[in-house]
Amino acid sequence: MRRLAVIGTGYVGLVTGSCFADIGNQVICCDIDASKIEKLNQGIIPIYEPGLQEMVVNNQAEGRLAFTTNIAEAVKQSDIIYIAVGTPMSPHGEADLTYIYAAAKSIAEAMQDYKIIVIKSTVPVGTGRSVQMLIAEHTPHPFDMVSNPEFLREGSALKDCMSMERAVIGATHSRAADAIEELHAPFRTLVYRTSLESAEMIKYAANAFLATKISFINEIANLCEETGANVAEVSTGMGLDSRIGSQFLQAGIGYGGSCFPKDTEALRFICSKSGVSSRLINAVIETNAKQRYVVLNKLQHALGNMQGRTIAVLGLAFKPNTDDMRYAPSVDLIPELVARGAHVKAYDPIALDEAKKWIQEDILYTQDMYEAVADADACLILTEWDQVKSMDLARLYSLMRQAVIVDGRNCFSLDEMSSHGFYYSSIGRAVVH
Ligand code: NAD
Repeated sequence: MRRLAVIGTGYVGLVTGSCFADIGNQVICCDIDASKIEKLNQGIIPIYEPGLQEMVVNNQAEGRLAFTTNIAEAVKQSDIIYIAVGTPMSPHGEADLTYIYAAAKSIAEAMQDYKIIVIKSTVPVGTGRSVQMLIAEHTPHPFDMVSNPEFLREGSALKDCMSMERAVIGATHSRAADAIEELHAPFRTLVYRTSLESAEMIKYAANAFLATKISFINEIANLCEETGANVAEVSTGMGLDSRIGSQFLQAGIGYGGSCFPKDTEALRFICSKSGVSSRLINAVIETNAKQRYVVLNKLQHALGNMQGRTIAVLGLAFKPNTDDMRYAPSVDLIPELVARGAHVKAYDPIALDEAKKWIQEDILYTQDMYEAVADADACLILTEWDQVKSMDLARLYSLMRQAVIVDGRNCFSLDEMSSHGFYYSSIGRAVVH
């Protein structure tokens, strides 16, 4: 059993803290957001993540998990301090490290003895070293720095954490790496030990590589549309090759979310700062930026004109099983639909409250998918929620004014759509009508 403090109780900090508590450690999660901590202390989870509510409440009840705004107290009571604060994109694309340095300073000021300080947030190479210097300037007490980047995916975060494929541990001293490796023993995961710098780079390189797969298959999808091939068949055929693998090869409207857009931008910034070419990363980012608008052209093509048309947007979150709206395609596309004169009725099973913070346009929000599609001239699918994939297509057909579906996530087979009589335009496949 180790005593841990986790600074930053967002998607990563809350999941990490809960999972470490669940395997038997004593964990205090801290945040500067008092309302978040107040909610958590009442057993209310500020984000949507399957299974998290139960895990938090159970571990709180068993006395292994606590929440506080008192970072100094949490640091004093812990041997290992995890930093899991946000590293958002700043206007020039670089990672904004303000929260990292603020957290580091509050740790340093509270330290009274040796600590292991672990950066879990995604940070540019060199950040661990500069945090190390900053802490050393503010405390006489000894400490070791570790980089232990996070690879969880929102929507399956608990599973990703409890059955993690690997833990990357980069440390300034082997005694700290040993301690963090031991902490991971109950997860029975593969531990890969590196330098601090390599661990920081692994996270960016891994995300950029996955983003590359997505942009690659989207470019192929656009080519399939022009040449008569079907991208679903192409990606399946490619993925059967174990050197390629089938994951992250699904064509669609591109990547969004809190990580890939900002991490690819941050990597591009690191390249330019280091004087290294970033041609591939540039292309990945540009392809992705264009890809989300492909569905607008498809809608325009199907409807002729959007003025006065009612569009049901199905799915607002950047992906299923989360309420995270950061860099969600809906945030870019809904204002564009409204600007072209369309009336938007937006459905999402979970993310409506979050969506309202991100989308300023006057649109109708509903948690009832059939209310959204009633009298619509077209459906625009932006998130592949199970509820969307399993909707009653005969009912949908009978409710819509025009049976037009533009699917940015390839949720349905062409045969299914054809047999129900829809005009169906998806990504990288023939239009059914
Ligand atoms: P988040 O925005 O959900 O949470 C960050 C939290 O840190 C917020 O609650 C904020 O109030 C708190 N905070 C900020 N400054 C603080 C301070 N000085 N002291 C205490 N708390 C402070 O962010 P997130 O999505 O959990 O991401 C955190 C980091 O993990 C980022 O670097 C991100 O790139 C990385 N990451 C995220 C994911 C993901 O899927 N969300 C996956 C892997 C890695």
